[in-house]
Amino acid sequence: MAKLKLEYIWLDGYTPVAGLRGKTKVVDGDPDTFSLEDCPMWGFDGSSTKQAEGKNSDCALKPVALYKDSTKRNAFIVMSEVMNPDGTPHPTNARATIEDDADTWFGFEQEYFLYQDGRPLGFPESGYPEPQGEYYTGVGYKNVGDLARSIVDEHLDLCIDAGINHEGINAEVAKGQWEFQIFGKGSKTAADQVWVGRYLLLRLCEKYGVDVVWHCKPLSGDWNGSGMHSNFSTKYMREVGGKDYFESLMEAFNKYRDEHIAVYGPDNHLRLTGLHETQSIDKFNYGLADRGASVRVPHAFINDGYKGYLEDRRPNSQGDPYQIAARILRTIITVPTP
Ligand code: ADP
Ligand code: MN
Ligand code: MN
Ligand code: MN
Repeated sequence: MAKLKLEYIWLDGYTPVAGLRGKTKVVDGDPDTFSLEDCPMWGFDGSSTKQAEGKNSDCALKPVALYKDSTKRNAFIVMSEVMNPDGTPHPTNARATIEDDADTWFGFEQEYFLYQDGRPLGFPESGYPEPQGEYYTGVGYKNVGDLARSIVDEHLDLCIDAGINHEGINAEVAKGQWEFQIFGKGSKTAADQVWVGRYLLLRLCEKYGVDVVWHCKPLSGDWNGSGMHSNFSTKYMREVGGKDYFESLMEAFNKYRDEHIAVYGPDNHLRLTGLHETQSIDKFNYGLADRGASVRVPHAFINDGYKGYLEDRRPNSQGDPYQIAARILRTIITVPTP
């Protein structure tokens, strides 16, 4: 038996973007065999997170996924859903709105900026650095500065230690901009892991005095914005697919364009302009290997007879992967499969 440190984390009631909250519970247990089923329900003061009134302030935390926290001895992160006292999902609990499907897979490409003293890492004290060009997948002090590399590499280790299915990192097009990718089988898996990945990055950056800026267009002018390309596939898309089904699917995505944009992150009109590898916000289109399309169709998809995954390029870096996954599935479900 040991004293285990459980960090319960959840999403608060702030809009348009929920914040991450967390608090620590110490329990007795065996760190080698401790599992999700061993995590008790817990609660918090919802009146301090915009999730309840002061008079009736209790919200419950339902543990839904468990990750190792390698920064501390005998420690775990407990991803939690917020529940009402009567056991129903709280209105801010978007995870509960995702259709459960073990055979739906998502891959999210999370872009973000690292900031210090109010400007991106590597920016001079005043003015701008060299224009974009050499920063994407860049190497060297001139391109990535002196701090970012340690942060992104340490973050990668923390994610892998946690059991997150992290797929990789790259320096992005703007200076101080980075990306990590997470893939998961099961309709909620990757979304959980993106939130835990965000949590681990935010917490890591505390000790460097660095802010993570998730906003989709922190720099105006000729600087890329940040997206969260959302790659998705269902069992049917992977195993049956076909041109007719694909076209019906894209018709449905076109029909529900506004519903998708509504949950694809705030201020997306600043990013989806038709420039910087985006389609403009009021249009929907798809294209083979087209990074200027709303949905990019990978070459392999066509070569395999319209089977595989598709990339929705519209969700932005501040979007909630729970809401995004829920919406994509809701649209897919409207399309009949023969
Ligand atoms: P790019 O930057 O060219 O769009 P990335 O390699 O960054 O490509 O991202 C591709 C994404 O597609 C990854 O997140 C990966 O997990 C995801 N992906 C690959 N296969 C599938 C699949 N069958 N279903 C859902 N997502 C997938
Ligand atoms: Mn990518
Ligand atoms: Mn990218
Ligand atoms: Mn992409």
